[in-house]
Amino acid sequence: MTDKSVKKKAEIIPVQMTEESTFKFRCHKDVSCFTRCCRGIDIMLTPYDVIRMKKCLGMTSDDFLPMYTELRLLEKTDLPMPVMRLLDDEKKSCPFVRDSGCLIYEDRPTACRYYPLGVASLAQKPQEDESGFYFLLQEDICKGHEESTEWTVKKWREDQGVDLHDSINAGWTDIVVRKKSFPQDHKLSEASKQMYFMACYNLDSFRTFVFESTFLKRYNPFDPKLLERIKVDDIALLDFSTKWVTSTFFKRENPDPMFRPLAPQAG
Ligand code: SF4
Ligand code: SF4
Repeated sequence: MTDKSVKKKAEIIPVQMTEESTFKFRCHKDVSCFTRCCRGIDIMLTPYDVIRMKKCLGMTSDDFLPMYTELRLLEKTDLPMPVMRLLDDEKKSCPFVRDSGCLIYEDRPTACRYYPLGVASLAQKPQEDESGFYFLLQEDICKGHEESTEWTVKKWREDQGVDLHDSINAGWTDIVVRKKSFPQDHKLSEASKQMYFMACYNLDSFRTFVFESTFLKRYNPFDPKLLERIKVDDIALLDFSTKWVTSTFFKRENPDPMFRPLAPQAG
């Protein structure tokens, strides 16, 4: 899904891969290109990326998003998504890159973890029997491809921790894939775009919306334990919010049982 190197598309040779496909690659501090891939690039952020990065930086999503991201519309979806705001220096550096490496390495975004793999699951929904659809980004600047360490796509995903990211982002991925399957002239209202963005990315605001507006009164009572959890747990809140977006945007006639609107009171 995420393409860390959108601006360098012309140099990329896409090679379709599956989980069992192999490639040779190793990135380490002694490569001559160390950190070059962290400059002049587009890094799209997933909802779980925002959760990890804001926590790592000790910020709320309300503060993190305007400071570190800018908005783009995701191709073929009309959905807004945050892209890392690069520094205004000569090389358009990622704000977290230093000569010694990535300042937030443990909490780096999904796209940085996948690299040099790209994921096409949002461009083309996998069939039931497919585990994914990947491609190798072979850019001239990246000397990691000259190393001899061999990986399968599956092993790389495990090593980079993307399995966890993908499973927590699954509800959001489903929203994007569904929206992508709509006719391209299907446009969302500005209010819907803002609601989608808040529910998927600005979880601290969404939490306030849930607990401090009339939101809870519009539905049958929620499980009190669930409400306690989403008050403090961003991952549980993301699961709740993506189910809500799916029910509101795509399944109005048959929403998730949690989000059946209260029947109007008689009299
Ligand atoms: S080897 Fe590739 S991924 Fe590693 S620093 Fe160099 S350009 Fe970046
Ligand atoms: S977040 Fe870290 S790994 Fe990703 S581009 Fe920025 S410095 Fe590089």
